Amino acid sequence: MSSRLRLRQSLRSGAGSVSRQWDGHPKLRRSMVSPQPIQLHWARPSPAKLRLLSLAAIVVVLLFPAARAQSAERPSPNQFLIASDIHFNPMADPSLLADLMAAAPAQWEAILQRSKLTAFSQYGHGTNWWLLQSSLNEMRATLPRPALIMITGDILAHQFPQNFASAMHDQDREHYRSFVLKTITFVALEFRRRFPDTTILITPGNNDEECGDYSVRANGTFLDDTADLARSLAHADDGVGAEWKALGSYNVPHPSLRGIRILSLNTVFFAEWYHADSFREGCAPVASTGPADLLQWLESTLAKAKAAREKVWLMFHIPPGMDGATTTKQYLSQLLRSGSPNNSACAKAMVPMWVPSWTSQFDSLLAKYQDTVIASFAGHTHADDFRLINAAGANKLFVLINPAISPIYGQNPAFRVVTFERDGTLADQSTYYLTNLEKASVTVGGTWEKEYTFSEQWKMRPLDAARLAILYNQIKNDSKTRDQWIKLYNVSSSDLSLPDDIARGLYCAAEALDPTSYQSCYCPAPRTSETAPAPQR
Ligand SMILES: [Zn+2]
Repeated sequence: MSSRLRLRQSLRSGAGSVSRQWDGHPKLRRSMVSPQPIQLHWARPSPAKLRLLSLAAIVVVLLFPAARAQSAERPSPNQFLIASDIHFNPMADPSLLADLMAAAPAQWEAILQRSKLTAFSQYGHGTNWWLLQSSLNEMRATLPRPALIMITGDILAHQFPQNFASAMHDQDREHYRSFVLKTITFVALEFRRRFPDTTILITPGNNDEECGDYSVRANGTFLDDTADLARSLAHADDGVGAEWKALGSYNVPHPSLRGIRILSLNTVFFAEWYHADSFREGCAPVASTGPADLLQWLESTLAKAKAAREKVWLMFHIPPGMDGATTTKQYLSQLLRSGSPNNSACAKAMVPMWVPSWTSQFDSLLAKYQDTVIASFAGHTHADDFRLINAAGANKLFVLINPAISPIYGQNPAFRVVTFERDGTLADQSTYYLTNLEKASVTVGGTWEKEYTFSEQWKMRPLDAARLAILYNQIKNDSKTRDQWIKLYNVSSSDLSLPDDIARGLYCAAEALDPTSYQSCYCPAPRTSETAPAPQR
């Protein structure tokens, strides 16, 4: 494909690893010998693109002395980091945008450092460079050698295509495509700089796509452009790159545990708002078998793992079930207009996260493989939350939902350290958050603290579905626990306070994954005059 921008990249982890994207350039070849370089090769197949992409297409070699010193430490045998919903906005300072456009990702940091807008991005906004830098530095200070890092989706800021168009007045779609890829590559480089050896696993979020929200296409341009990046961050082979291109998903062995596999699952395909767009056809909607193919891939991958007596961790962006936050918002705004609580208005306000038929198929699949899947991790809600899957079954499964780095929905920026046992079960988790967002700037700095540790906060251990089910019942029945949970749900943010009827809409989503059970958990009982409508699909 002549218009195809190909990122060839090797984010090397150590002297022993060899890039599969080797193209024999003598400068690159020399750099491979030194222990900690990071190379990026922006190769452009077409002469027209040479002009269009200008400085994007250069070879960069970066040396990181700090990273070299760090490598002497051993990786943690039982702890890993999760960062979610970074929503990095490189356009936060518009005066730098033209320079960023013209530069390769490895040059971006120097450009962003010049920004005169020195405050961290605030509540209601995506993540600017200063907040991203502070978050990454704190992750490294907290756990310098994690067993792995999970980035559970949404690397790009919201409204990325719209913001680019209005800031740059540039209608060239290839310029935009290049800018998207550079932004994601830059975030990857900043992680790699601080964690040179670590296996870093990513999954697409609904914002991670050139055509805009919820539109990532199986075998489409975005997955094609980012496949080498996803593969090299994961320290994985070409098979992983191929799986990423096809479905935005992959399957890798756990880097520190034998007999455990990690499946990165592109659940954007299952989302209620999902529609495939084709970048090559001007972002026109196209038919897609992505969701069905993904479920099939999941089933066959779980079957193989089970046959090999392996256990599985799942990581994905959008959790299954209902969207409690949007549902409560819609229902309450209807109440403000129409007066008294009623079941049918509540049912109409309900919004699923996933198309309910995908949720129920996923639910049954996980029930079938409940001895194989031992933990799941998600993002998307930006809140500190969880889901109980197969909640009616004997062996419940759970999804740990990680709070966001971005403060756009009012939560404080946060990341998580998860502790696991040698059999892959989870022992505990601690959440770290930025305590001074409104004051934080380049001069003041960001003050990060441990917000809580699961076992200390809830007086229970380990971190499993049985304990989360106990916690769920306490949240439901005890107002003190509920208040504490809501505070942590919002990452101790003073920007958000929630009345009790909103809290119910949120905690109901943790246990009630299908519309019918969510309706009976959250909505007021139907009045005798009221005939309850059929739940939304
Ligand atoms: Zn998000």
